[in-house]
Amino acid sequence: VTLVGIIGAGQLGRMLALAAAPMGIRCRLLDPAPQPPAVGVAEVVTAAFDDTDGLQRLAAGAKVVTFELEHVPIEAARYVSGRVRVAPSLEALSAAQDRLLEKEAFTRLGIPCAAYAAVDDAAALRGAAVKLGLPIRLKTRFAGYDGRGQRELRTPAQVEDAASIADAGGLIAERVVGFTREVSMIAVRGGDETMFYPLVDNTHRDGILRVSRAPAEIDPALVDAARDYATRLLDAFAYRGVLALELFETTSGLLANEFAPRVHNSGHWTIEGAVTSQFANHIRAVCGLPLGRTDPYAACAMVNLIGREPDPQSLLRLPGAHLHRYGKAPRPARKLGHVTLCPLDPHALRQAVSMADAAADDP
Ligand code: AMP
Repeated sequence: VTLVGIIGAGQLGRMLALAAAPMGIRCRLLDPAPQPPAVGVAEVVTAAFDDTDGLQRLAAGAKVVTFELEHVPIEAARYVSGRVRVAPSLEALSAAQDRLLEKEAFTRLGIPCAAYAAVDDAAALRGAAVKLGLPIRLKTRFAGYDGRGQRELRTPAQVEDAASIADAGGLIAERVVGFTREVSMIAVRGGDETMFYPLVDNTHRDGILRVSRAPAEIDPALVDAARDYATRLLDAFAYRGVLALELFETTSGLLANEFAPRVHNSGHWTIEGAVTSQFANHIRAVCGLPLGRTDPYAACAMVNLIGREPDPQSLLRLPGAHLHRYGKAPRPARKLGHVTLCPLDPHALRQAVSMADAAADDP
C-alpha cells in the first residue's frame, strides 16, 4: 500500500487520513501532542516536530511527506526532504511561515495586498505609522494564527505603547484594510493540472473563522482575479498539493491577506459539498494521482464549533447537517469541530450559528 507521511496530526491531518483511506492510501502522522485528533483514524508517531528520530519514523517507507500546518520548523521539513519527497515545496512552506516573506512574495508576483512595513524596532514602528498612516495592524512575523499575535494601533498613543514590543523585533505592520468581506480561493495543483474550488465567503469572529459559504455570490471577474493570484503562487513555488489564498474584497478589488500551503478550514464544506474534497485532492496531488473535479454539488455553508460544542443531537436534527467532531477538549478559542449544511437551508444555517454561539458563550 501507499504510505503518506503527514507532519501534524490535528483535525486537518485527521481529515486527510480519512480521505486517503478509501483510495487504499495509508497515512502516518507526527505530532507532539499525546492525543491529537488523528489518533484512532491513523497511525500517529508522538514526537516533537524537530525530533530527528520521530522524523525518521514518519518518513520510513513513505512515498511522500506533506504537512497539515505551516508552523513546522523548516529544518525539520528539510531533514525529511533529504530522505523522501516533501510536498508542497519547502519554498512555499518558508514563505507562508513568515508574514514578511509572504508579503514580499505577493508584491514580487504582482498580487495586490495591504501596504506593509517590516518592524524591527521602535523607530521602524514609528516610521511605519507615518508611512502607512493610522490605523495599522501590528502582527508577529512568525507563528501567528487565528488573529493571535496581532493588535490594531489606532492612535499615536497606542503606537507609543507598542514601542517596547516593537523593540523585540520580528514584527510587520500593515495598513488596516476597509474590506466589504473576506473570501478564500482554494486551488490544487497536481503534476500538470490545476483545479480551483469556487470562491468561499468567510465570516470571522475574534479573528477566528466562524462561517464559510460556498460558492460566494460575487462578481465573476473577482473569481478570475483570485484564480490568477493563486496560480502565480503555485507557479512561483513549483507547487504540488492544495493551496489556500485568503483575500479581502474591497471596493477597488481583491487584496491578498495570506496564503496557507495546506488544506484550509474554509474548504471543509468540500467533504460533502464538492465532487472531490480538498482532502482527497491534496492526497491525490501529493501522490501524483489524477485530480478530481472540484465543482460544488450544491450551495453549502460550514459553521465552526469553537470553544465548546453544542449538543450533537440538536445539530444533527438540522436539515442537511453533517457533523464533524475532532475529539478535542473544550477550551476558549479552540476549534473543536464543524457542521456543514449541504445542501444549504438558510434557516438551518441560522440555527447552527446560534447553537454554536450559545455553546461558545456558555460560561
Ligand atoms: P490573519 O491572521 O492575518 O488572517 O488575520 C486574522 C483576521 O484579522 C483576518 O481574517 C481579518 O479579519 C483581520 N485582519 C488581518 N489583517 C488585516 C488588515 N490589514 N486589515 C483589516 N483586517 C485585517
